[in-house]
Amino acid sequence: MVYENPDGVKIGLEVHVQLNKLNTKLFCCCSTDYHDSEPNTHVCPVCLGLPGSLPVINEKAVEFAIKIGLALNCSIVEQTQFHRKNYYYPDLPKGFQTTQYDYPIAGNGKIIIEGEDGEHLVGITRAHMEEDPGRLQHIGSIDRSKGTLINYNRSGMTLIEIVSEPDMRSPKEARRYLDKLRSILDYLDVFDGDLEGAMRVDANVSVFGGERVEVKNISSFKGAERALLYEIMRQKNHIRRGGEITMETRHFDEARGVTISMRTKEEEHDYRYFPEPDLVPLRVADRVPKVRETLPELPDAKKERFMKEYGLADTHARALTTEIKVAEFYEEVASKVDPKTAAVWVSDILKGELNYRDLTIDAFTVEDIVAIIELITGNKITEQSGIEIIRTVLDHGGRPMDIVNEKGLLKVEDDIVATAVEEAINENPEAVADYLGGKEKSLNFLVGKVMQKTKGRADAREAREKLIAKLKE
Ligand SMILES: [Zn+2]
Repeated sequence: MVYENPDGVKIGLEVHVQLNKLNTKLFCCCSTDYHDSEPNTHVCPVCLGLPGSLPVINEKAVEFAIKIGLALNCSIVEQTQFHRKNYYYPDLPKGFQTTQYDYPIAGNGKIIIEGEDGEHLVGITRAHMEEDPGRLQHIGSIDRSKGTLINYNRSGMTLIEIVSEPDMRSPKEARRYLDKLRSILDYLDVFDGDLEGAMRVDANVSVFGGERVEVKNISSFKGAERALLYEIMRQKNHIRRGGEITMETRHFDEARGVTISMRTKEEEHDYRYFPEPDLVPLRVADRVPKVRETLPELPDAKKERFMKEYGLADTHARALTTEIKVAEFYEEVASKVDPKTAAVWVSDILKGELNYRDLTIDAFTVEDIVAIIELITGNKITEQSGIEIIRTVLDHGGRPMDIVNEKGLLKVEDDIVATAVEEAINENPEAVADYLGGKEKSLNFLVGKVMQKTKGRADAREAREKLIAKLKE
C-alpha cells in the first residue's frame, strides 16, 4: 500500500524538550526541582539576569544533548557557540535568550515512525540547546486579567529544541512522530515527560505545495493532532474559495479547537543574533565517544530483539517496547513464564485494563501477573477469572491467590465437569438430537447447562470440547 497524500500535506514539527532530569539549570547551580515549589524560590543572580552575573555551562546538559543527538541518528558538531537572541519580554529577565540557534549541537538525523503506509522516515534537521524563559501567570482569564505575575523558577532550565524536516504527511503521522520522540527520550532518561511543560510543540504545515503556516502554543500531543486537522481543513477551504495561503504564524486555541492568526511574515522579529561573549566556543567532538558508550538499547533495537529472542509478532514487540518501563516489566515476566503467553497478558490484557483506568505499569507488580499466568497455564483458573483478578487488584487491591479464594475462582475438578456434561446430555435429549441432526446452535444450549451446573467455574471452551467429544461417542 502506498499512501497517496491527496492534499499534498507537509508537516514539520519543532519540539521543545525540557531536560528536567538534570539536577541544575543550564548556566547556574539552581535546582531544577521546582515544579511543586513556591514561585521564585529556585533563582539566583544568573537566571534572574542581574547585572554582573556570569553564566557557566552545565557539563551534564551538554552530555544529555549529545546523547539525544546520537539517539536521533544525528551527526554531532565539532564545536558550537552560544548566541544571544535579543528580544524583550517580561519572562526573559536578561533581555535576550542564550541559544545555539544557527550552531546546533546536532543535525542531519532521522527517526523511523509507523507511517500511513508502513515504516516512514522522518528527517531531523537539527537539535540545539537553549535556555527556558520564566513563566507568566495571568490572574484569571488572559483577556480580563487584573494583572500578571512572573515566576522565574523555570528561567534558565535546559531546553533542547528538536526540529524535524517537513516529512510528515498527515496529522496522524505527526502524532506518531511525537510518540516516537517521547519514547526515545524516555529511554534516554533525560526528562520526565509527565511534568508540566516537559514537551512543547510548534508545527508548520502546508498543503498543495503552498506557503507554510506555523502553528504555535500546542501543549499536548492530542492538541497537536487537533490543531493540524483544523489547520489543514482551513487551508484547503481557503484555497477552494480562491484565496491564497501566505506565510504566517497562528496560535492554537485549545478550548475552541481553532487556529488564530498572530502575525504575518512582514511583522517577524529581527533578533539581532550575535555570539554570547560570556561563553567561550564549546568543543564537543571529544566528548562524543564517551557519551556513545552510555547509550541504552533504543526502542527500534529492542523491538527487533524481542521479535528474535522471544518469538513475538511485530505488533506485540512494538506495543511492549514503546515505553521503557513496560519493556522492562515484560522482560521480567518473560524470564519466569512462557514469553509468548507473557506478551499476550502484559500487552493485550494488562495494558488494556491499565489504559482503561488511565494508570501506568507501576500500578501492577511482576509478581502478581506471573502468579495469574501460572494459575491459568496450570489449569487452576479460567482466562476469564485471570482478567477478573487483574481488575480486582487494580480497583480494590489484594493479592491474586487471596482473590481466587475469596471469590471461589478455582476451576472445578475435571470429573465434576465430566459429570455435568453427562447430566446435561441425559437431561436434554431434544437438544442432543437437534445437535446430532446438524443444528450447531443447540451446542450452545448444552454448554449453558454445563456452566449452570458448575456455577460458572468450568471453562466454557473446555466444556464445549468435552460435550463435542462425548456426543461423538
Ligand atoms: Zn539560577
